[in-house]
Amino acid sequence: MKRKLKKQSKVVIIAIITTLLLVLIATSILIWKTKNQNENVNETKITLIDNLDIEVFSEINNLDLIKDIKNGEITSEKEHIDTNTLGKQEIEIIYLDDNSEEKEYTFTINIVDTEKPTITFDKELITTVGNDINLLKGVSAKDNYTKDIKVSIDGDYDFNKVGEYTIYYTAKDSSNNKTKEEAILIVKEKSNDTNNEKPPVVSNNSNEFTTSKGFKGYTKNGITYIDGILIANKTYGLPQSYGPGLTKETQAAINSMAAAAATDGINIYCQSGFRSFETQQRLYNNYSSRDGAEAADIYSARPGHSEHQSGLACDLCSKDNSACINSGFDNSNEAKWLSNNAYKFGLILRYPEGKTNETGYKFESWHYRYVGTELATKLYNNGNWITLEDYFGITSKYK
Ligand SMILES: [Zn+2]
Repeated sequence: MKRKLKKQSKVVIIAIITTLLLVLIATSILIWKTKNQNENVNETKITLIDNLDIEVFSEINNLDLIKDIKNGEITSEKEHIDTNTLGKQEIEIIYLDDNSEEKEYTFTINIVDTEKPTITFDKELITTVGNDINLLKGVSAKDNYTKDIKVSIDGDYDFNKVGEYTIYYTAKDSSNNKTKEEAILIVKEKSNDTNNEKPPVVSNNSNEFTTSKGFKGYTKNGITYIDGILIANKTYGLPQSYGPGLTKETQAAINSMAAAAATDGINIYCQSGFRSFETQQRLYNNYSSRDGAEAADIYSARPGHSEHQSGLACDLCSKDNSACINSGFDNSNEAKWLSNNAYKFGLILRYPEGKTNETGYKFESWHYRYVGTELATKLYNNGNWITLEDYFGITSKYK
């Protein structure tokens, strides 16, 4: 009985071992098979473009976002992405994997606004002591996304104290893109207090004179010439009857300049050329009743003192840019081209930036005056424009 039992258990043990072996072999085969199958089907790898922050309003489609696909094929149709709203957006792409099975891949993009607002403003504001002016008058801001951008102003300034103050205009859009621009506020003494200024060196008895820089000048029929150049500014006026129209030389210079500019892709034209005494009178009266004479004198000439009446000046505008005869033109490609090239055609930037004390006018990036190439080249001064007043040693002040 004992022996039979021993024999039986031996059989059981052998059976167990055999079963275990069989299971082991089966498992091994299965593992080997699975592994082999995996090696035959390669994993699909999709690479997206590096930056998934997409600028608002940009033209982009879903397939532009995919840089590369390995072991698979995109089957999604090309589809335009709506980039008109800021924020996250989920994108779905359908592809076939290496086994030609259709699969879905999703990822998130972010529509962002990184463009700063732009501010249009006057770089120089001038007033007299005790005469508050609205520093936000004529100031405006634009943005690619946010409508109704407000401009704030800061800086240490005092309308009751003579001085030059730096003021700052700031505009911020809804994405916190900020633009900060600097302007100068000049608070001058009251004009009747400026007796310590040197009067222009003009002899009243003779119509000939010599300027403080030694240039010979004369006045004939009420028109002043210095070194042969007609001068029309706040000191030297023109008679009411003087009205030559835009002179031939000025017109010709502007025509050849516009033609040369066009070959550089810059399209300019003379928006305002000759202006009669009467036209200037009407303009100046409008401005001074709107802003007050003190303020109007900085940007508009009194009748008889406008360079436009000489027929030698033109306000240039762009055919491609809406900013025309305002500070919005200052940083345009057109203004830059003009400032760099006008002298070649005998034209000068008549009221350069920061020269108000010499010219009597604020910066006008659009106002050009014909003087001939010889003098224009000297005044160009490698881009650092010299004013006619500084060059000849004369003033521009109303008597
Ligand atoms: Zn002008």
